[in-house]
Amino acid sequence: MGYYKDNTVLYYDGAYLNASAAQTNLYTQTLHYGYGVFEGIRSYNTANGAAIFKAKEHYERLQKSGELLGIPFDYTVEQMTDISYKVLEMNNLADAYIRPLVICDPNMTLINGTKSRLLIAVWDWGAYLGEKLLRLKVSPYCRPHPRSVHMEAKAVGHYVNSILATSDARKSGYDEALLLDCEGYLAEGPGANLFFEKDGALFTPELGHILPGITRETVLEICAQEGIPVHVGRYTTEDLYNADSAFFCGTGAEVVGIAAVDDQPFALPWADSLGSRIRAIYLQLVRTAAVSKPV
Ligand code: PMP
Repeated sequence: MGYYKDNTVLYYDGAYLNASAAQTNLYTQTLHYGYGVFEGIRSYNTANGAAIFKAKEHYERLQKSGELLGIPFDYTVEQMTDISYKVLEMNNLADAYIRPLVICDPNMTLINGTKSRLLIAVWDWGAYLGEKLLRLKVSPYCRPHPRSVHMEAKAVGHYVNSILATSDARKSGYDEALLLDCEGYLAEGPGANLFFEKDGALFTPELGHILPGITRETVLEICAQEGIPVHVGRYTTEDLYNADSAFFCGTGAEVVGIAAVDDQPFALPWADSLGSRIRAIYLQLVRTAAVSKPV
């Protein structure tokens, strides 16, 4: 997939640059050691033009990720939001993916550096019309231990684990992986959080071993509004195998139904599931209640 064209503009370290001409140093701790933080954000084309969904929540999480890893980083949420809208406008994009990445300065030691630089790139991400359900494989890879890394941070290096799990699932003929935590409880997907339905209620893994997803939070808000009971706790693969339905949620995935886990299909047709109902509400919400462009 091409992420940029000849005329694509990105923001990097104080300047708006042509993406093909933008450069970075090859001796950064981010490139060599995975020591960097990033975000995955989406902008939707709404009646008011491009609207970034939950920009504040995403940029606050980026700040928190930087803080947890000890990466010096002093952009405010407002600055990053304004830059994002400007980059979208310069690229004439509304339905788009926004990728902020905090790149640490050149430093081949293992001591955290004193400076970082912010990249904000955007690319076209048109409305996804299909509704293909996922076939999951419970991964042989577990999520990293929360005493090894800060699992609530969206750190570059954590995604080695996600790539290993996804590649393994694809190689085995599945669409996606589902990772357990290091103690064997359900955790999350390589890039999405998990919910499952049983007897009219939803269940989702508690925080601690997973990324606190902004979409997960939105799903919890939708459930509160709709009066859907939700339980947050530690659950096993048996709980999931015995569930009526299940779905993944994330900025990229939005809300996507799961057909089967380890070849065990769910009994409830997706169209009749709570996930399907939440998906419809979510898709409506991102195109209406999203924060509009500041004037
Ligand atoms: N878990 C992981 C590991 C992820 O990479 C993502 C995507 N950022 C999520 C969950 C979902 O998070 P969000 O809803 O904030 O996109």
